[in-house]
Parts: sequence; C-alpha cells; structure tokens
Amino acid sequence: MNAYYEELKTYIEKSAALGTALSMLHWDNETLAPEEAIKNTSGVLGILSGEYYHTAVNDKVMELLEKLSQPKEQETLDWKEKAIVKNMAKDIEKIKVIPAEEYMEFEALTSEAAAIWAKAKQNDDYASYMPTLDRIIEIQKKFAGYRAKEGQKLYDILLDDYEEGFTTKELDEFFGRIREAVVPLLAKVREKGEVDKSYNERFFASDKQAEFGKFLAEYVGFDFKRGVLAESEHPFTMEFHNHDVRITTHYYENNLESSIFSIIHEAGHALYEMGVSDELTLTPVGSGTSMGMHESQSRFYENMLGRSKAFWTPIWDKLKDTFPESLCDVSLDQFIAGINKAEPGFIRTESDELTYSLHIMVRYEIERMIFNNEIETKDLPKVWNEKYQEYLGMTPPNDRLGILQDLHWSGGSFGYFPSYALGNAVAAQLYHYMNQKMPIEKLLLESDLSSIREFLKENIHKWGKTKTTNEMLMEITGEPLNAEYYITYLTEKYGK
Ligand code: ZN
Repeated sequence: MNAYYEELKTYIEKSAALGTALSMLHWDNETLAPEEAIKNTSGVLGILSGEYYHTAVNDKVMELLEKLSQPKEQETLDWKEKAIVKNMAKDIEKIKVIPAEEYMEFEALTSEAAAIWAKAKQNDDYASYMPTLDRIIEIQKKFAGYRAKEGQKLYDILLDDYEEGFTTKELDEFFGRIREAVVPLLAKVREKGEVDKSYNERFFASDKQAEFGKFLAEYVGFDFKRGVLAESEHPFTMEFHNHDVRITTHYYENNLESSIFSIIHEAGHALYEMGVSDELTLTPVGSGTSMGMHESQSRFYENMLGRSKAFWTPIWDKLKDTFPESLCDVSLDQFIAGINKAEPGFIRTESDELTYSLHIMVRYEIERMIFNNEIETKDLPKVWNEKYQEYLGMTPPNDRLGILQDLHWSGGSFGYFPSYALGNAVAAQLYHYMNQKMPIEKLLLESDLSSIREFLKENIHKWGKTKTTNEMLMEITGEPLNAEYYITYLTEKYGK
C-alpha cells in the first residue's frame, strides 16, 4: 500500500470513529435521552465535534492529500483509495478558504438560530427572526464568494454541495418543465372534486401502529439485525455504518397514514445505507452519494411502490386485521384513492406527490433571488406568499403556514431544497427503466420485493459516494437526469 495513504488511513479511521460516536449521541438526543440531559450532553458534543473537525481537517491531512493527488502517487492507488482521496480533497477545499474565526461565528450563529426560528414560528413573528436570517444569508454569500471561481454564480456553489453537477442552468430547465406541466394539471385535479379519506382520522392506537410499522419495515426489506426503528418528534434516518442504520417515526393516533408512509420512506433511506459495500463503509465515501440520490430511494419506496395498489393488495388484510374497528367499512380501493389524494396545502411536509415539487420550486426561486441579490430579507414573506398564490392557488394566512415553516434556512442550508425535487425525478426515471427490466407490479402482487431491492443495491447502494447521481443514471438508464419521466409519471397518475 502507498505509504502516504497508509498514514492518511489512520486519520480516516479516527474521524470515522468520532463521527460514529457523534451520530450515536445525536440519535440518542432525538429518541431516548431524558429531557434534562441536553445541557450537559451538548458540552460533550461540542468537544467531540471539535476533535472530529481537527482530525479531518489539519495541516498533515492537507499535506497528505496534496501528495496523493499527484499523478505519480495516483497510479499506486486502487479505485476505492482514489475515490476517497478525491472526496476528501474536495471537502477540504471547501472549508480551507474560510477563515477559522468566521467559520466558528457561523457555527455559533446557526446553532442559536434554531431556537430563534422555533420561537418566531410559534409566535408567527417573522420580524423577530429576520435579523438572524439576514446575517446567515450575508455570511453564506461571503463564504460562497470565497469559494467562487471567476464568473461562477454564488448559488451554483451552494447547489453543488448537495448535488454535484447540478447548477441553476439545469435546475431552471428542470423547474421550468415542472411549472409548465404541473401547475395546469393541479388546476384540473382541483376541479375534479373531493376524495373522501375521513377514515384516516379515526382512532389508531400507537402500539398497534408500531406493530404494523415493524411488519411494514421488514416487508420492504429493512433488516432488524442491522437496524432499529424508534420514535422521535420528526422521522429521520441515521447511519453509523452499514451494519447499524436507525430509523424513526412518529405515531399520531388520529392519523394512520403519517407513520405508515414515514416508515416506508425512512426504510428506503435505510436500505441505501445498509446496501453500501463492506469495503466502503466507515470511510469518507461510505454513505449515499448525494441528497438527491438519497431522496430518490426513499421516494421510490414511499411513492412508486408504497402508494400502488399492487403493493397493498397482499397486505391489505393484515392492515385491516390490525385495526378491525377503524377500517371495517373501508375498501382497498378507497384506501388507495385516499393515499393518493392530491390537495394543495400550505405545508410542504404534508403535501402530496403532485404538489410537492411546487413547494420546492417556490423555495428554489426564492433562494436563487437571494443569491442573485434580487431580494431583501424583509421582503421574503411577501414574495413567498405571491408565489404560493401563483403556483398553488392559495395565499398563506400567516407566516407560520408560510415562510416560517421550514428549519433549513436557519441552519444556513441554502441549495438543499432542490435535491428533494431532484430525488422525485430520479425515482421516476429509475422506475420507468426498472419496469422495462422486471415486472414490478407482478412482483409486488407476489410480495416479492427482493429483485427490486437487489437491483438498487447492485446499481446504486453498494457504490456509496464513489459515483455521482448522473454517472449512475447514465450507467443504469443510458441518460443523465431527465425530468420528462417524472412529468409523465405525474401526468399519467393524476390525469386519470
Ligand atoms: Zn427523506
């Protein structure tokens, strides 16, 4: 083995160990930790994060990466080592141009901002949050400026952090197609009238939901020998390595769908992480390649498979038997119509498949305006509301149901939202192609999800971050991301 790489490996292993410990503490905070723990635990987290940062970013690591990037040394590395060096060099490039004290100010600001945002949301008081948001935006612009190459747009730099190779050029085109196709389709669907899904608000005991949820996670392939399902306020997935991937859900006793679909969604994320090869796990390339690709896997399971009649046909009786009273008069067809109901609302996380991308489009357009210096922070709520009126046909009655709904911007995460919409589009493209390769509907009717799972594992999951989204799409489908599959999927589904 290359001697420089050998040395780099000690840093990689140590930062992976610290990263795993940090994740475990974060997981615990969100699930089991008692209320009073947070104050002391956050001190521990602070020290560990510092250690983690300095293990991954220091002069020695930079020097080793510099050497290992030389052609002569590259020749002696295998494909996996090359990918690791490339990935680490790219990450360090991002951080090292930012002066340490500015980075720390930003860290402090964003950790404080979460509480300011939460309070502003609760009180529907944008004005109290505005100065903090404004400062976060100002710093993000400055940081992007440090990283910008000649003529490069600031927003493109942020977008690239979440999905390599996707800039405003690709995304303008992408959202342009969504706007053309989805806005008129939504208007038609709204005219069509109501689907009755009042059954969903009946009583569904938490323990019974948990029992069915466990069955469901296992049904789609979540391996309980390598994973855990727990409860938290908001559902999420957290991986420590490919043999320990944890998902959460939240049980609402008057909303059956909420936990069902969050479990399928998070299981989709988890299958990705469980599928990363043993060679790559616990290295810098040992997890999902991008936000967009990750979201494509969760959405593929949640929507393409999980909202289809073929998926529910074999397990419908099981669901009915779990809730014999609340579902006694509900038919499978009614349930399928219910879980696919399209209805515009104000809240992104509660939206259906058809309107989801419109929620993202609003955020994308606003972020683009912010980083093109076309809007002031004080005017954001007004523009937000105008865009909701234009695309979804409704104006939020207050900022809590409008601009204050998402946490992302308070953490400085600009450029993140588009990856949700890209994920939907990637999922639709994969679904189209896989349908030609294997009889998905028939497999679902036979409760056989193994060949679907194997296909995703072989072509996507096992590669970790060693390939980009577009590289994998090219290999699997013969073309880079193409929004048309998503548009066709939505038009066929909701055009009916
Ligand atoms: Zn997700």
